[in-house]
Amino acid sequence: MSNKRPSRLRFNFGFFLEATLGTSRTIELNYPTIEVEDLTLSPLAGTFTATRTSEGVYLSGVLRSTLGAECVRCLEEAIVPVDLKLDDLFYYPPHTAPEGEYIIGEDGFIDIAPLVRELTVLETPIQPICKPDCHGLCMECGQNLNKGNCSCEAEPIDPRLSALRQLLDSKDN
Ligand SMILES: [Zn+2]
Ligand SMILES: [Zn+2]
Repeated sequence: MSNKRPSRLRFNFGFFLEATLGTSRTIELNYPTIEVEDLTLSPLAGTFTATRTSEGVYLSGVLRSTLGAECVRCLEEAIVPVDLKLDDLFYYPPHTAPEGEYIIGEDGFIDIAPLVRELTVLETPIQPICKPDCHGLCMECGQNLNKGNCSCEAEPIDPRLSALRQLLDSKDN
């Protein structure tokens, strides 16, 4: 037995076994919060279509979620929107699924939790930022510059002044 939490993302596709090829169903998800294996997604919403193929059930659609992460610039919480694009075939037994592919359970259920988890991990930004124009922290005093300037701000030399100084220096030589 698996020690993982029971998945809330299991869907019964047993009836699809008898369905003609091309039969499809649209499934809408709208969870304000859902635990998917070791992740908590808030929300998980969107629509996907399940289509009976000769080998199994093909899922396609887009689920939306957001991920909480630490902004690499200011270290505050960054809420990052992610799109999880489903584009996967779940193989029916007794068709032998290729290595690493998803399969439909013997009971006719499809559990999309492992797929959703995999897509979420793939979409997790390596360097999350809280907003595109995050000003980050002052290198000197650590002040969060999104919340206002610190007194260190006047210290750096204005690049225009340094250019002028270089010009003056070169005249002296
Ligand atoms: Zn930030
Ligand atoms: Zn400062």
